[in-house]
Amino acid sequence: MPEALFHSPHLTKISYGPGHPFQVERLEDLLGMLGALELLPPPPVETGPATREEIARGHDLAYLDALEAAETLPPRETVAWGFGAGDNPVFPGLWESCRLIAGGSLAAARWLRDRIEEGEDRPRAFHPGGGLHHAHRARAAGFCYVNDPVLAIRVLVDAGLRVLYVDVDAHHGDGVQEAFYASRAVLTVSIHQDGRTLFPGTGFPNESGSGDGAGYAVNFPLLPGAGDEEHRRFQRLVLEPLKDRYRPDVLVTEIGVDALPDDPLALLEWSLCGLDDFLRWADGTDLPWLSFGGGGYRRWNVIRGWSLVWARMRGRTLPEERPAHGPGGPLPESWPRRFWDEPPSRHLTDPQVRREHFDQVLSFLQERVFPRIGT
Ligand SMILES: [Zn+2]
Repeated sequence: MPEALFHSPHLTKISYGPGHPFQVERLEDLLGMLGALELLPPPPVETGPATREEIARGHDLAYLDALEAAETLPPRETVAWGFGAGDNPVFPGLWESCRLIAGGSLAAARWLRDRIEEGEDRPRAFHPGGGLHHAHRARAAGFCYVNDPVLAIRVLVDAGLRVLYVDVDAHHGDGVQEAFYASRAVLTVSIHQDGRTLFPGTGFPNESGSGDGAGYAVNFPLLPGAGDEEHRRFQRLVLEPLKDRYRPDVLVTEIGVDALPDDPLALLEWSLCGLDDFLRWADGTDLPWLSFGGGGYRRWNVIRGWSLVWARMRGRTLPEERPAHGPGGPLPESWPRRFWDEPPSRHLTDPQVRREHFDQVLSFLQERVFPRIGT
């Protein structure tokens, strides 16, 4: 069972600007923790930038022209592409950072494809710096400029593989859904906080694909405060039947950890134990598995969540308490000592209301969407 973690050291040098929630330094913290946990080696595979031609597989050329020149264009010329103060700032090194993120996800996808073609048993690839699932074909959105999951999935589809994409980020995986909306080569599944209460405002159950892809987009919105109970039922009643119907060749996951408790942007309460249930489900599919990171704005949730992803990919788990020291010296004192402890629930929605909402969504999918999905 070969596994590889993909990382670009240059990526951690960029900054969206002070105060922006998307902080790439979180990747350095993650690698520090993985080193302390002795989950490295194997050392991360260092990746370089994607070319413009590679990125053009997922984006319009006019948009890439604007993205490449964004630092020199007056703001009034870039606002139509989604750039500007707020979510998608133009910062020094923007185009280079997009190329690095895309390059890491492409390298991970090609590595996985090659292992599959060589007949290796259950290869796994993890690119925690990827998963920018909101970028559209010709517009930046939600801190995302280039949609690296779309580029990576195209590598797998081009190899004739059927892809099950599961997105557990707190936000709807709209850009990935959009790219494959009319295709049955990719079954996109997103579980996320309800779009009436969170960006990007989409991801309702009736968004289920079009044309040849009708039925091949599945959306499961959750009310604020939803967590382990909903995720457990989602795994058993949605993911498992979908896998059996669709019979994918490869699993691709976007594991944004902003669905974990106390995220400053989202309002879900999925515990680390709940995330572990999902990872064990993914492990148990015995499929080749490619994962990206994604959102995650509470630093500790990023560190422990993605440490657990990589641990599970390698058939390991996390201890009760974190190590005090790593290869580079002591880990920050400010980090909590215990991996699995959760903050008190915020009690955001009455559990009975959440349950009724879950049942309504499930019934709709079972009656209207699942029957359209075949092998
Ligand atoms: Zn998110």
